[in-house]
Amino acid sequence: MDMVSFDDVSYTYPNQKENALKEVTFQVKKGESLFITGKSGSGKSTIARAIIGIIPHIIKGNLEGNVIVNGKNTRNVTVRKLATDVGYVFQNPESQFFTLTVDQEVSLGAENLGLDEIDKRVEKALQLVGLEDKRYESVFNLSEGEKQKVALASQLAMSPEVIVMDEPTSNLDPKATDDFFNILWNLRDKTLILIDHRTYRVPEIFERVIVMDSGMIVEDTDSEKLLDPD
Ligand code: ADP
Ligand code: ADP
Repeated sequence: MDMVSFDDVSYTYPNQKENALKEVTFQVKKGESLFITGKSGSGKSTIARAIIGIIPHIIKGNLEGNVIVNGKNTRNVTVRKLATDVGYVFQNPESQFFTLTVDQEVSLGAENLGLDEIDKRVEKALQLVGLEDKRYESVFNLSEGEKQKVALASQLAMSPEVIVMDEPTSNLDPKATDDFFNILWNLRDKTLILIDHRTYRVPEIFERVIVMDSGMIVEDTDSEKLLDPD
């Protein structure tokens, strides 16, 4: 079953002439782990914004084709409605923090959606990212790597099928980066999409790599067959 499907998707940002995405087509199966790479400006973040519904609902612009996530056409559901289907983690966790303590932060999204069993959700999510012992700490006392795990846990608490991560480790040192990628093994029953412009080390969990250039997919292959890593 496809968890994410791009069907001939083209997209132009408001007041731009050049397409940020050009006839992009790909499918991601349930449980698959996909690494999306390509140089800056190639369209990677635009794909992430389209999957979580920010495009077209918050950043309007001109979207052609269809993006289907867990059976829902993103055109027809709100970003809020998609939150239990797809979670996301961006580069700067702090810009995603609204509260003070780890448990408050992790419960916030699930609470806002009116989901049940908040305590259980928080506990499970913190377990998955290995931060049970930081449950009552202030998020602002955590290391950068721990903050990024909190950001991930807050998405996991909404039990999404798909997790989109856009350059989640670009502010982390090599040790924290390894650490972050390692906890992804705890999530391998989910559909994982990781965006990173660095291809010199695709984390082992990602079996498949898509390479973007100028808004187009130029390669879609097994990660072990990826040619010309820079
Ligand atoms: P990244 O390469 O990490 O995706 P960018 O440097 O492309 O980030 O973009 C950083 C921010 O600037 C994003 O919020 C993006 O939406 C915005 N942005 C990028 N290009 C433009 C542009 N041509 N006009 C307006 N905003 C832009
Ligand atoms: P990447 O994530 O690979 O760096 P992006 O998806 O951010 O690439 O950008 C793809 C293209 O869209 C680039 O030309 C970029 O300048 C443009 N772009 C990105 N965000 C915006 C935005 N908010 N407004 C206008 N143009 C944007």
